[in-house]
Amino acid sequence: MRATALPDTPSSPPRRRLLGGALAGGALLTLGGCATRAAGPAPATGRLALPMPDLDPSLLIREVAGLRPFRPAGFRVEPERFGDTLVIHHYGHGGCGVTLSWGTADLALRHALAQPERRAAVLGCGAVGLATARLLQDHGFEVAIYARELPPDTVSNIAGAQFGPSGLLDAEHRTDAFGARLAHAARFAHRRFQLLPGERYGVRWMPLYFVSRRPAWSPGWEWALTPELFRARTHAPGTHPLGDRYLHEVQTMIIEPTIYLPAMTDAFRLAGGRIEVRELKSLDDVRALPERLVVNCTGLGARALFGDAGLQPVRGQLAVIVPQPQIDYAVIGAGGTYLFPRRDGLQLGGTHERGAWSTVPDPATTADLLARHRRLFGGQD
Ligand SMILES: Cc1cc2nc3c(=O)[nH]c(=O)nc-3n(C[C@H](O)[C@H](O)[C@H](O)COP(=O)(O)OP(=O)(O)OC[C@H]3O[C@@H](n4cnc5c(N)ncnc54)[C@H](O)[C@@H]3O)c2cc1C
Repeated sequence: MRATALPDTPSSPPRRRLLGGALAGGALLTLGGCATRAAGPAPATGRLALPMPDLDPSLLIREVAGLRPFRPAGFRVEPERFGDTLVIHHYGHGGCGVTLSWGTADLALRHALAQPERRAAVLGCGAVGLATARLLQDHGFEVAIYARELPPDTVSNIAGAQFGPSGLLDAEHRTDAFGARLAHAARFAHRRFQLLPGERYGVRWMPLYFVSRRPAWSPGWEWALTPELFRARTHAPGTHPLGDRYLHEVQTMIIEPTIYLPAMTDAFRLAGGRIEVRELKSLDDVRALPERLVVNCTGLGARALFGDAGLQPVRGQLAVIVPQPQIDYAVIGAGGTYLFPRRDGLQLGGTHERGAWSTVPDPATTADLLARHRRLFGGQD
């Protein structure tokens, strides 16, 4: 079973430069389009010339698999008291923990500010723990991080990591109340990532193309909650190199974990934070910490540590191809097949195995990912 909510567009290829449109590069076109997109999806004009990735198997540089911390009801941000220790749970972000990290950290921060303690322990040093720790510091807290693994050994290092609220919860849990919290988190995070300097934090803008047979973009529920973050324009069949499909283009951010997570760790330390590598095995271990305020950002680890049996892995595998700097756009196609270009390689993904715990990459899955991407870029998917 797949974990919800990849936008329900069947497929969407990339876009890039207009031919015959003088020197209007992709970025210029994109900016030009923004001004006219506010009123709703707009058709793009001109022809899009997208450089095609070289997907030869000899260019494969690594295969990785990671476990998304998925809760059918979506992320958990909630205080729970254990004697004199207040634990604020902050985990369960499924396929969009990097995306939402700053935003759900803001929800957790509100609980922290509502009590008098100003020394805090943050459990976990992935994207969620680091954003939480930095936000607490910015609000005057003295923070220590306790974590079993540090970057580069966290799930957050495996993430794509494209800004988009995908794979967060099951459809039956889509409520107005959760939607309001999600929309707040997405907006807060979107703004926060824009404030992070590109080179230092490895955050950059690029167009994302949904490849689809449908002329109108129909984003999933999570995406549609914040339409102003994902304004679309459409490239019709015949105006781009990806076959007889529609390309629905939105502007997205790619957050490079290999740059972003070390930069966040440095920023945390520079602000006076302390990191201790340590596994907490039980609630007694948590209560024995010197801090009386604890924010639980252990991702999938919260299942064993706090007994959240609903938390489960959604395994994802990536095949990574040698970096190709000319590919400066992202693509999501049929069945969630996606390509996210990064400095450390082209990330080819699109697998979602709920309940699978293995982090050992499967060569057959890699071969399948390569084949799916060849079909996608050949205009066949
Ligand atoms: C293939 C793949 C692609 C993805 N693509 C994207 C994407 O494009 N965009 C996006 O936003 N997200 C993406 N995700 C999802 C994203 O990776 C996760 O949602 C996110 O990394 C979760 O962050 P986290 O900090 O909660 O967990 P983690 O990164 O797992 O960090 C958890 C931390 O808690 C620590 N910990 C756990 N248990 C204990 C314990 N008992 N004691 C002490 N420490 C403990 C760990 O050591 C670690 O430091 C993807 C995931 C995968 C697998």
